[in-house]
Amino acid sequence: MKPHYIVRRDFDPCGVEHSPAVEDYLRAVFMLSGRGEATTTSAVAVHLAVAAPSVSAMVKRLVAHDLLGRIPGHQVTLTEHGRRHALDVVRRHRLVEELLVRALDVPRHEADVEADALAHAVSQRLVRRIDAYLGSPTGCVRGQRS
Ligand SMILES: [Zn+2]
Repeated sequence: MKPHYIVRRDFDPCGVEHSPAVEDYLRAVFMLSGRGEATTTSAVAVHLAVAAPSVSAMVKRLVAHDLLGRIPGHQVTLTEHGRRHALDVVRRHRLVEELLVRALDVPRHEADVEADALAHAVSQRLVRRIDAYLGSPTGCVRGQRS
């Protein structure tokens, strides 16, 4: 399958390409470091079920884009810039998940899995529509689920 690259220029003009993989990594680091702490690259590998060399390659790329910073002990942390991108990814995932639960009556755990795939594809314009439809439920973004 050919990957699609979404440059979310209406969100952040920095030009970072949000491929699905980039979004998965940002979300994984955000979820794993829920309290703003660093997380190990091996924890990211386990969370995403990918091999360590793949994680190394992606981490290198995200560090080069100033989305992640390295910390001794094979740990990574979101930079301030990375955190903004991660919050956008997490918010989109939550809105899509919430839409599936409320509008389509999809069970929560199923909606979470479906949102993993769907959330990559929604535009910022659609995100705004979903947010309005749901009555802006994401005032506080939490990162503890899944
Ligand atoms: Zn950016």
